[in-house]
Amino acid sequence: MIKRDKNISNSNTEVRVRFAPSPTGDLHVGGVRTALFNYLYARHTGGKFLLRIEDTDKKRSTSQAVQVILDGLSWLELEPDEEPIYQSTRIDRHIEAANKLLDSGCAYRCFCSPERLSALRDEKPDGEKLYMYDRHCLNLSNDEIEKKLSDGEKYALRLKIPEGEISFNDGVHGNITVSNREIDDFILLRRDGTPTYMLAVVVDDIDMGITNIIRGDDHISNTPKQILIYRALGQTPPEFAHVPLIMGPDKKRLSKRHGATSITEYHNAGYLLKTMINYLGLLGWSPGDDRNIINHEELIELFDIPGIQSKSAVFDETKVRWLNGQYLGNSEYRDVTEELNTFARQATESGMLITMPDSKQIEAAWMLLKNRVHFLKDLFDDYRYMFRDPDSYNNKGVKKHFRKPGVTEHLEMLKNDFANVESFELDSIEGIIRNRSEEWEVSAGKLIHPLRLACSGVTGGAGLFEMLEALGKDAVIRRIQKAVNWISNG
Ligand code: GLU
Ligand code: ZN
Repeated sequence: MIKRDKNISNSNTEVRVRFAPSPTGDLHVGGVRTALFNYLYARHTGGKFLLRIEDTDKKRSTSQAVQVILDGLSWLELEPDEEPIYQSTRIDRHIEAANKLLDSGCAYRCFCSPERLSALRDEKPDGEKLYMYDRHCLNLSNDEIEKKLSDGEKYALRLKIPEGEISFNDGVHGNITVSNREIDDFILLRRDGTPTYMLAVVVDDIDMGITNIIRGDDHISNTPKQILIYRALGQTPPEFAHVPLIMGPDKKRLSKRHGATSITEYHNAGYLLKTMINYLGLLGWSPGDDRNIINHEELIELFDIPGIQSKSAVFDETKVRWLNGQYLGNSEYRDVTEELNTFARQATESGMLITMPDSKQIEAAWMLLKNRVHFLKDLFDDYRYMFRDPDSYNNKGVKKHFRKPGVTEHLEMLKNDFANVESFELDSIEGIIRNRSEEWEVSAGKLIHPLRLACSGVTGGAGLFEMLEALGKDAVIRRIQKAVNWISNG
């Protein structure tokens, strides 16, 4: 048997996928996950990833709402391979296709007034789930149609649903069959001449040469209708894969109630791009094992449609946070320099820090604390003592470590030792403290705790010797002096 490479067997039809968001004001993490799956599939198969902005709803599709999508995708480096297509610029094409369907007899004019249609809706027999158009206008004679047209009556175009059934093989859900009897002669072009979503999507996907549609489960019921449009237009439908929606921990569709849902919020909160790609990549897709960590290259190499899970995935904020911590712990200063500087500047502008720290200070603090923070911002929020002298001391710590006989004397002496040491670094700092502890016959802890409180204002944190080294000699001496004064005055 010849082993066929999937990519090679597809070589005459390049995979073309698209992300087709409607600009609504934010970019939901679920949308980003859809974009990512499309992007990964394109990269995996050597195909193209396209972007179509479905901006036909004029009220919601402001330029800001579009920009939010572009910025989100650009942050995550999910850049489309071709210029984005704006659906609103393609209305003429949609209308052209609808008229073609009218000419070929696949669509017909419906002159029914909104009043008649809403009465139909209200009259639908109890127990019947679906409202179906009663095909009143399908039975109009040519003369009747001509008369209405010459009277200038407005009409919509409806697709004439043929007999039979629609079957398609969904990449996630397997075979799906729907009887055409369950499908209404739905509208392609409204009375005001505007195309419906159902028509626009199909016409655009045809013109963009889309081969695979990977999108949210919420569109699954649209698919049979869209396949009917493809057929009526004489086109072969693409392959479909409907990805289950993302749920909150309560198994309800992920929404604002559950916390942050827009990618911008995650960006602003300090999540790394790597974290989001890793987390969303494994949200509802699995390479066949239960790993939690995966990088961009591995995702591209391993991503495939059969690995998409058919049960919905739960978004777990605790896990994303944990993952971000993992990535931060493994990153070097140079990986995050720019972002750290931005947060440092923000912290300075908001008055949290008194002066903008220089890059050496930021780097030292980063190397010391990167395993303890979950977000870059934490470095300035939770460990601001790394950048500004404490102006208060933890109460419990004061009782335990400052209000003890001999403390100020010890602190003074240590301060002098530090001042006299030539190179202020880990070994010499530790040496000084160990020597003094032996000489004074006190445990090292009796020196370490007051020193920590004096230099940071708090009682926990990274190892003391490392912390003092990162703070630097001048700051340590100044802070010990300040604490000694504070103890002596109180
Ligand atoms: N614009 C649609 C949405 O945002 C997606 C259409 C599609 O993927 O076919 O839900
Ligand atoms: Zn009608």
